[in-house]
Amino acid sequence: QGNVWEVARESKAVDVKFGGQVYLEEVDGVLQPVYKDPYIIRAVPYDTGIVGYKNNHVNTMRLWDAQIPASEEVKFPTIESRRKVEDLTSVLYPDDSNEEGRLLRLRQEYFFVSAGLQSIVRHYKKYGKPMSEISNHISVHINDTHPAMCVAEFMRILLDDEKMGWDEAFDQTVKTMSYTNHTIMSEALEKWPVSLIERVQPRIMQIIAEIDRRYALELAERAETDLISGTRIVNNGIVHMAHLAIIGSHSTNGVAKLHTDLLEQDVLKDFYHLYPERFNNKTNGITIRRWLQIADPRLAKIIDKTIGTKWRSNPKELHNLATHLNDRRLIADIGKAKHQNKVDLAKYIKQTTGIVVSPDAIFDVQVKRLHAYKRQLLNLLKIVKYYLDLKDDPKKDVVPRVFIFGAKAAPSYHYAKSIIKCINEVGNLINNDKTIKDKLKVVFLEDYGVSLAERIIPAADVSEQISTATKEASGTSNMKFMLDGALTVATLDGANIEIKDYVGEDNIFIFGLKKEEVLQYEADHSYQSSDYYANDPILHRVLDAFVDGTIPSIGAEGAEIFNSLVHANDEYFVLRDFEDYLRAQGEVEKTYRNPSLWNKKCLVNIANAGYFSSDYTIQKYADEIWHVAPSDPLDGKDCGANGQYPL
Ligand SMILES: *Cc1c(COP(=O)(O)O)cnc(C)c1O
Repeated sequence: QGNVWEVARESKAVDVKFGGQVYLEEVDGVLQPVYKDPYIIRAVPYDTGIVGYKNNHVNTMRLWDAQIPASEEVKFPTIESRRKVEDLTSVLYPDDSNEEGRLLRLRQEYFFVSAGLQSIVRHYKKYGKPMSEISNHISVHINDTHPAMCVAEFMRILLDDEKMGWDEAFDQTVKTMSYTNHTIMSEALEKWPVSLIERVQPRIMQIIAEIDRRYALELAERAETDLISGTRIVNNGIVHMAHLAIIGSHSTNGVAKLHTDLLEQDVLKDFYHLYPERFNNKTNGITIRRWLQIADPRLAKIIDKTIGTKWRSNPKELHNLATHLNDRRLIADIGKAKHQNKVDLAKYIKQTTGIVVSPDAIFDVQVKRLHAYKRQLLNLLKIVKYYLDLKDDPKKDVVPRVFIFGAKAAPSYHYAKSIIKCINEVGNLINNDKTIKDKLKVVFLEDYGVSLAERIIPAADVSEQISTATKEASGTSNMKFMLDGALTVATLDGANIEIKDYVGEDNIFIFGLKKEEVLQYEADHSYQSSDYYANDPILHRVLDAFVDGTIPSIGAEGAEIFNSLVHANDEYFVLRDFEDYLRAQGEVEKTYRNPSLWNKKCLVNIANAGYFSSDYTIQKYADEIWHVAPSDPLDGKDCGANGQYPL
């Protein structure tokens, strides 16, 4: 049957050139690249219509398949060599823990970059406008560093295919490109060896090297040598893709206020010094259609009854709910809808895991990629603490809680998998301990993805957003949870800060180290995690449970985690934040005992979540970065960048 919404468009295929060697030859006074032994892969577009919400627009999402053209078949004689071509488009983010995987990943990045830009330029040329004006009509956004080769590929097209001079080509490239930075974690900022890029596409490496050479030359007149060497694209045989994206574009943005501040003041401060006008913030957003209208229809209906349906096209209208904070009927209805969503999720949990959970318990949820900085471990230490408390005092008066996790880890991320193992074994221990009854349950749902998120988030009471301050660029699940009426336990990190500013301190549970404190510890190395193990008897006992057999079947994994926290000095300050985290969780429990107070706080969160609609975020990108005006859907024309010329 296939995917009936997807249309293959063979006639729009483009050829992507890989490998071989390249040298420059003077033809009629102009340097031309000459390729030796390259190979060509054909990129075939598959288009899916993306239908706008009641706006008479349908956009195209274009995915690319890789095929071997007939003329190239002799170069792919073995099954193995043909499989490599298939692999180009079969896995998103190929495993880059080995050389083979890195090569595949870089080839994939170039394949998509080249196919996309070639098809954009071909489309532009149909309108007969000169290439010297392309930046007036076309915007290309570099979303994270993965497509940063766009800068060099666009240059290649302008120089080699369109015969434009270097200076004009670079001017058009900078004006066309813009870049969003998504993380300050250095291991996630792509760096590729020159030798690898040369192997994938030697002409692209030539162009990157020339951009870098001219950058350093131009700066030599106005900047200090340290600043130049720290911002160069190529350094010690390594290409810094973020540097390429910043130098080759007119806009660099972060994805939350705190994140953009960190880029300007810390991570990219030298670039900010050189190009202050290029830096700006665009706080991330979420689609209200998916996360409220579709995922939480019960809540959506209650909102319609209270403030009408205008919020569905203009999510800021959700703020009208704030005039109903004393509507006891509304507040009770919100509680009822949440309860029904929890009944649905409890059924799903029973079906998929066999674990029985009560919808009357607090559903305490952490769903996101598994990563040390997101601190699923902090959550797990809390659970073990609660378990040990109940073992000491089985009659302890606690509000029952169900801890729900969903997470996936990169295939080579060993530590993350150890954490997943420990969460599951803590679950096995607690869920099968008859003395705990229904007071605590731990559920790890497999195959976390958007579909599962749509089931889980509308059923959450507590949203765990507990990353080490400075590490989470924005976060977006924090926004989804507040929209669906969960209360957030949060560090002052990423967009959590903006959420707090909207809902007010009384409607969110804030804890933990602040940005300045984390930066201070990282600068002076004064943090000693082993002191916390030695001096905090509660932490001591909780951590021992990972290595003394209390949690069964986690020999190696338990030791790995214990060592990282106690002996390897706990890079993400889990032990440092533990006590304050427990305090915040105590507040959660106290508040939950008062249902009308709890649900009123949920209502405040829902009322303020509209500000995080991605519609507004995208509007800002369009206005402030791409300079693209909306088109009238009924006149049959699109507007180009700047809204100047209908393409
Ligand atoms: C929203 C979402 C994310 C991002 O979650 P964060 O907690 O902000 O990291 C990741 N995966 C899926 C499936 C999501 O829906």
